[in-house]
Amino acid sequence: MNLEDVKRFTCDLIESKKDNLKNLSYEIWNNPETAFEEFKCHEIITLFLEKSGFHVQKKHPLTTSFIAESIIGKSGPVVGICCEYDALPGIGHGCGHNLIAECAVGAGLAVKEAIRKYGLAGKVIIFGTPAEEAGGGKVEMLKAQVFEGCDVCIMAHPALYDLPDPIMVAVSQFKIAFKGKPAHAAAAPWEGQNALDAAVQCYCNISMLRQQIKPTSRVHAIISKGGTVPNIIPELAELFIFVRSVTDKEMWDLKERVVSCGNGAATSTGCTLEITEVAEYNALKTNETLMNLFIKNSENLGVDFNYTGSKQGGSTDMGNVSVALPSIHPKFKVDSKTNIHTAGFTDAAILDENQIPTLRVAKSLAMTAIDVLASDSHILEQIKKDFIDEDK
Ligand SMILES: [Zn+2]
Ligand SMILES: [Zn+2]
Repeated sequence: MNLEDVKRFTCDLIESKKDNLKNLSYEIWNNPETAFEEFKCHEIITLFLEKSGFHVQKKHPLTTSFIAESIIGKSGPVVGICCEYDALPGIGHGCGHNLIAECAVGAGLAVKEAIRKYGLAGKVIIFGTPAEEAGGGKVEMLKAQVFEGCDVCIMAHPALYDLPDPIMVAVSQFKIAFKGKPAHAAAAPWEGQNALDAAVQCYCNISMLRQQIKPTSRVHAIISKGGTVPNIIPELAELFIFVRSVTDKEMWDLKERVVSCGNGAATSTGCTLEITEVAEYNALKTNETLMNLFIKNSENLGVDFNYTGSKQGGSTDMGNVSVALPSIHPKFKVDSKTNIHTAGFTDAAILDENQIPTLRVAKSLAMTAIDVLASDSHILEQIKKDFIDEDK
C-alpha cells in the first residue's frame, strides 16, 4: 500500500460526493439553530452518516450531539473529527458552521472508505459537537468522556485567511448578580440598597481595569438585569461577563481581578454578590506534528499559508479538546466581504464558490487523518510527544 495512493483515493472520494456534501451543507444553512437547539441539523447530519455506512449513536451524550464511527477496520489509531453545526442568534450561519459540518463529514466519509478499501488498522470517529457559540457542547462531551480512546482530534473553521495555528484565546463566561434591598424610590430611597448601582459601579471598575491589562486580553460585559421599574430601588441586577486571555493561567488571573471589581462594588453599595459560571473554554493548543502534516497536505492542494496579519481570534470549545488530546483547529479561507459573526459572512457561507475551499480543506483533513492511520507508528508517537512537551 502506497500512502500517496490512499490520499489520492480520499481526495477522489470527496470530489465524487461533492454534490451530496453541498446539499448537506445548504440544508444546515437553511435550518439555522442555536446552541443546544440543533434538533433538525442533528437529524439531517446523522441521517446522512447512517446512509453513508457509519455506526451512529444519535442524541449521545447530549440531546443534539452524536458520535459516528467507522465500524470496519482492525484495531489501531483512532482519529476524531469535530463537526459543528450551531448557528448564531439573529444572523443564522454567520460563523459558517455549515461549512465546518460539510468538511468534517466529507473528510470522515473519505477516511472511512479508505479504511475499508485498503484494510487500514484503526478507526475514524465524527463527533457531532453542538453549541460551540454558547454553552460549550464539547466541554459537556469531554465530561461524558466520549473522547477517551481517541488519539487525535481534528477540524477546520472558515475564515478570511488560511492559518494552520490560530490563537484561540481562553475564555471564562460568568454572571455576577448583585442583591440589594428594594424600596420606594421616591418616598423612602434611604431604606433601599441599590443593586443596579452595584452593577454600574462594577462595570465602571472593569472599564478602568481594562487600562491595566495586556493588549491581548479582553473583558467584555453587559448589564443583563437592571431592575424592573424606575420607582422601585432595584433589588437585583446582573452583569454577564466574558474574560479572555492568550493562556489559561492569564485568563484565570484576570478573572480574579474582574471579580474584585464586583466585590468592591458590592461593598460600597451594601449589596451582596453571587457568581454563576456559564462556560469556560481553554486556550487552543495546536499540535505541531499534526499541524505540519496538515500544512503539507494543504500545500499539495495549492493552499498558500502566506497570511501575516494577527493570528488572534475568538475562543472555542475546541480549546478544551486540545488540552485533552492532540488537536488542530486550522482556519481556511473563504470568499467573504465581512468577517465571521456578521450577516455578510452568513451570505458567504452559502456561496457556490466557497464550496471549492471547503472541499479542499475536507481533503486536507482526510489526508492528515490518513497520515496518522497509515504511516508507521512513529508519527503518532511524535504527535503524542509534542502534546506532552507543550505542557512543559
Ligand atoms: Zn463563531
Ligand atoms: Zn465558529
